[in-house]
Amino acid sequence: MEEKMKAALNYNKALLQSKELYQYILDTSVYPNEPEPLKELREISASHPSYWMGTAPDAGQLMGILLKLINAKKTIEIGVFTGYSLLLTALTIPEDGKIIAVDVNREAYEMGFPIIKKAGVEHKVDFIKSEALQALDDLMANLDNEGSFDFAFVDADKVNYLNYHEKLMKLVRVGGLVVYDNTLWRGTVAMPEDAVGEKYKEGRKLLLEFNNLVANDARVQICHASIGDGMTICWRLH
Ligand code: SAM
Ligand code: CA
Repeated sequence: MEEKMKAALNYNKALLQSKELYQYILDTSVYPNEPEPLKELREISASHPSYWMGTAPDAGQLMGILLKLINAKKTIEIGVFTGYSLLLTALTIPEDGKIIAVDVNREAYEMGFPIIKKAGVEHKVDFIKSEALQALDDLMANLDNEGSFDFAFVDADKVNYLNYHEKLMKLVRVGGLVVYDNTLWRGTVAMPEDAVGEKYKEGRKLLLEFNNLVANDARVQICHASIGDGMTICWRLH
């Protein structure tokens, strides 16, 4: 291939290269539009030892718009933690909407729950303390649930992302969305294995496999957004 053509194809069109630029987005567009209860939950979650697990607020903003665009009413959340993405969803879906929220651990959720309650949206949340695979199997056991969900957000153990995907392809309707978080795994998916720190190696391997499979899955149209730690948006086509 001609050198000029190669340079054009490799030209880096991605802008986000600095912390300052990220802060600019948060300060200009995200924080001024973040609903008060979400801001409160984000601030309380900062005191949790695993504070880094909370969904990035700019990624949350994208999720909010996706939920609105598809008129999501019935949703699934896998991986709740203190409930940032859960509260965001609860504030966005209609009054009679429902979220099946699954987490193996209830402790962190207890931290966010008073804010969810104060925001007046707890009636939309059905929290299930369970392994997510089990909870999805239980949902699938009721045939009425097949293709009945509008939206799912997956933000739990990466080792099961492909298993969740298979089950969610049955539970989420055609035209619905499944969003997977952390699919760029701190950028390690693009690093040679020996340059990756021990604690990221396993996740990197799992996400490389997940990203390849989902990019070649004809059931979905995807957008691999470089927002937060990477978010893959899958729109179910058939
Ligand atoms: N979406 C959350 C938010 O916005 O704050 C963050 C979720 S956090 C990154 C991951 C959560 O997944 C943890 O609370 C953890 O307990 C839960 N989790 C991990 N493995 C799980 C599993 N196998 N089944 C259900 N939940 C799981
Ligand atoms: Ca996450």
